[in-house]
Amino acid sequence: MSEESLFTRIINRDLPADILYEDDQCIVINDISPQAPVHMLVIPRLPIVKLADAKHSDRALMGHLMWVAGEVARMAGVSEAFRLVVNNGEGAGQTVFHLHLHILANKGSKATFSEDNL
Ligand code: AMP
Repeated sequence: MSEESLFTRIINRDLPADILYEDDQCIVINDISPQAPVHMLVIPRLPIVKLADAKHSDRALMGHLMWVAGEVARMAGVSEAFRLVVNNGEGAGQTVFHLHLHILANKGSKATFSEDNL
């Protein structure tokens, strides 16, 4: 059995997903089971298990994920109103143990970005 997380398999294209954005540090996908009209996940390529496991040396990556969240919210037309959620640990509802930021917004449509605005 593979020890790779679900999200690492998506990053490696071993599993399908709607990949909306990617760069050298992270990817953004549509959540497969959206809890809002816009529900995207910002996922670092580095498989940090949960937020509280981030190291001092991961500070720049943490900041980058926040910046990307704002960028993709703008691309999805929801930059005026969205929530950013991180579930840390099973007791908080985390089900995929590879750090990810949920972007949730009630307005806008399911994000589809053209090559022009990436
Ligand atoms: P969490 O409960 O915070 O760990 O969030 C995990 C999220 O991953 C949930 O919102 C799931 O719907 C989502 N998810 C699980 N599998 C997939 C998948 N294959 N593609 C996209 N999102 C997924």
